[in-house]
Order: sequence, then C-alpha cells, then structure tokens
Amino acid sequence: PDPLLRPAPQEGDGADRALRPETLDAFIGQEAAKANLRVFVGAARQRGEALDHVLLHGPPGLGKTTLAQIMSRELGVGFRMTSGPVIARAGDLAAILTNLEPRDVLFIDEIHRLNPAVEEILYPALEDFALDLVIGEGPGARSVRIDLAPFTLVGATTRMGLLTTPLRDRFGIPVRLEFYDEAELTRIVTRGAALMRTPADPAGAAEIARRARGTPRVAGRLLRRVADFAVMEGDGTITRPLADRALTRLGVDAAGLDAADRRYLRLIAEAYEGGPVGVETIAAALSEARDAVEEVIEPYLLQQGFIQRTPRGRMLAHRAWTHMGLPQPGRATQ
Ligand code: ADP
Repeated sequence: PDPLLRPAPQEGDGADRALRPETLDAFIGQEAAKANLRVFVGAARQRGEALDHVLLHGPPGLGKTTLAQIMSRELGVGFRMTSGPVIARAGDLAAILTNLEPRDVLFIDEIHRLNPAVEEILYPALEDFALDLVIGEGPGARSVRIDLAPFTLVGATTRMGLLTTPLRDRFGIPVRLEFYDEAELTRIVTRGAALMRTPADPAGAAEIARRARGTPRVAGRLLRRVADFAVMEGDGTITRPLADRALTRLGVDAAGLDAADRRYLRLIAEAYEGGPVGVETIAAALSEARDAVEEVIEPYLLQQGFIQRTPRGRMLAHRAWTHMGLPQPGRATQ
C-alpha cells in the first residue's frame, strides 16, 4: 500500500513531534472529547487525585497518543508509554506499574493486543491499585499483594470490539475520536506549515486538508511532501495549484484516495459487480492482512460513503461508481 496515506506511524514521522500540540487549547478539533476531558482533568487536579482511567478509541492517526500526553501535562504528572504487544509477560507490566509515581499517566497503545495473562494482573491494578503476584509454582506457590501508587491508565485502541468486556468496564472515561472535518484539518495544516516555515495560503492549506483522509497524521505527512515541492519548485509558499500538482504527482487523488483505496474499490467493482463480498475475500485478493483492510482502508471509505457494510459483506455505494467514472450496474443512467 501507498505509505504516504497510511495512517499508521512510519519512519520519517519523527518530525511529527515538532508539530504535536502540547495543551488542550492548542489541540484542534474533537470538541466534544476535549470539553469532557477538560472537566475531568480539572476536577482530578483540584482534588489532587489520580484521574479516572481513560479509554481512547478511534482510527489510527487521530491524536490518541497526543491527547494522552496532553492529559499528563495538564495534570502536572509524569507520562509513561508502552503498547499492548510489547508487554510480553505479567512481570513486564509489574515492573512498569511498580515504578509509577503517584498520579502518573501510563499510556498503553493497542491495548486490545494485551496478552490475557498480562490483562489478568491489570484488573486489580486498575481497581484497587494493587498487584496480586503468584510466587513459586505447584503446591508451594503463594500469592502476595503489592500496593501501587494510584495512577491513571490511558488505553488506546483502534478496535473497540476486540477489547474484553472486563477490561472495557474498568475505564471510567471512554472517549471516542472522530475523523476531522476539512475546516479543522485546514487549521492543523496552516499551523504545521507555519511551524515548518513554509507558509500555506488558505486555499493551499484547504487543498491538503481535503485530501488527508480526515486524519491529522496523514495531513502532516502530505504537508511535509508538499512543502518539499514548495521549496524546490515554487517560491517556498504552499498555494493551491502547487499543492494540487504535488499531491497528484504523489498519487493522492482529489478525494484523498491513494492507490490502495482505488485498488480496493476497483476490485469490488470489477470482480464482484459492486458486491456484497466478504472482507476475507477482499483481503486475500489484495494480498493485504484482514486487519489492515478493516483498520486502515475501510474506515475512511465507509465514513466518506464510498462503501457500505452489510451482513453479507462490503458493497460499493453510488459515490464509488461516480468517483471511478464507472456505470453502476442495475441503476438507470439518466
Ligand atoms: P494516534 O495515537 O491516534 O495514532 P497521534 O496522537 O500519534 O495519533 O497523532 C498523529 C499525528 O497527528 C501527530 O504528529 C500529532 O501531532 C498530529 N495530531 C493529531 N491530532 C492533532 C490535532 N488535533 N491537532 C494537531 N495535530 C494533531
């Protein structure tokens, strides 16, 4: 798949860090989530207590890690970061938890990928700030309880449905992140361009925003490439014609779809007459992992009304046919 539009983090995204907003006020968009977090963070801070555990869910690249960092900053506490697949054994998690300072934020990305044995010891940690560890094996084994400093777990997941119910139930503050609209992304691009010293005029910023799949990480990546064109082929300013030319050359079409998205749509159109077709079949035909299809390609196509999910599989929506310039079977042409 075209790496430019993939919302998962990539090498070369390091420059991202300079663009990361550091306060809730500087964080653009997600107004509902921000308004709630402001209240809960403020209250925890005033009481001098650890913030209740927070679960951030939504597609990759929408700002989950950034929000977790902002929360720790606004709470005035330390920030530790890890991810579900990295914590292999219960002991690894125990080591992290016993090293937390009171009220610290522990961020666990991809929390739906925690190994069950690790998840098991997380429950009492979240509920009672205690670890129940079993020492030894067989008949001589005994269980010891270790007290932990009260802390805040911020979990992030792209797949809410894969979280076990007991884990989900232990988060007092669930927050769903939504795709960004064009106006919000335009503000993010304008801010990023200024920070990179390749200013974007309003139409130039809007052009990048329109083609960024509703995702700040993608917007940042497109911005960096367009900025390269502005420096090498323009006068250092990002204008609409320049952005359009650069993005078209990079294979990003006017709707922000890349080669992988177009391949996905064309497959359903040409091999399955528009569907319905099962996701396993699509993934196999595209030689992509099913997870990648469901987490990365489909959410934006669904949100934008290019496809529909039905009980019998995926179907192309009218917008996909018009976008590809193909006649929709069974629909009278006017
Ligand atoms: P996630 O954890 O959901 O995958 P990140 O928090 O890593 O997403 O964000 C991806 C990139 O997008 C980061 O570089 C971050 O700076 C940028 N970003 C995300 N949300 C915003 C926002 N609301 N305003 C500005 N930049 C943002």
